[in-house]
Amino acid sequence: MKRWLLLLIPVSLPLLFFVLGGCGGGNNVPSAGDLDEHVIVHPVPTDGGRGCSISTSDPNNYALTGWKLPSGGITYRVNPSRVKVPSGYSLTADQIIQAIKDSFAVWSEANPALVFNYGGTTSAQAGRLDGINAISWRRLQAGALAVTYVWVSRATGRVVEADTAFNNLYAWYDFSIPDGYTADNYCPDRPVAYDIRNIATHEFGHWVGLADLYSNADKDATMYGYGDVQELKKRTLATGDRNGALAVTP
Ligand SMILES: [Zn+2]
Repeated sequence: MKRWLLLLIPVSLPLLFFVLGGCGGGNNVPSAGDLDEHVIVHPVPTDGGRGCSISTSDPNNYALTGWKLPSGGITYRVNPSRVKVPSGYSLTADQIIQAIKDSFAVWSEANPALVFNYGGTTSAQAGRLDGINAISWRRLQAGALAVTYVWVSRATGRVVEADTAFNNLYAWYDFSIPDGYTADNYCPDRPVAYDIRNIATHEFGHWVGLADLYSNADKDATMYGYGDVQELKKRTLATGDRNGALAVTP
């Protein structure tokens, strides 16, 4: 098997307490007692599997997490300061930010009611309920590729804050696609790295309210719960991903 399980581990943890001290305590930090925290972890393979497959189908399934974005849209900030790139390669902060913007835009193109505003860079780290919807790279536990955190209002069912952390234990890159190819039919030979847009587009699907799919019939969907280094096909939505985006209109 050259693919591996990106296990979705949804954890619904009522936040029993939240210490404002040290977090800046902004006005938009909600009362934690009114929120549910969802942590979605994507483990990396343990079998050393490497490879990439191209899209061969157009799955039409989707699954919902149960939450929706705020009706007015959501403003995100990017912390590009700690991205690990493969040895001998480089990425500029602008390239990283553009890759994140492009990943959000995929969902807005599928449903213009899904509004994402770029709020600039930040030094904030993803994973803290601090009023900043942060995308960052930081050291996560070994075995985790990325973690998306979503805090949802119990009263409204809407996202109050969402963060995505990518693990800088692993190498990341923004692959170019040669003329004559698309993200759905091209797997680069090198470098060995995760494509930022491939994984980010999947993670931001969780922000909008879509859950992972695990059926083999959905293997070419963006929300499929398996992934790979050098894989690009999750940059583009399958029919099911697009239908899901329409089903979660805020
Ligand atoms: Zn996922």
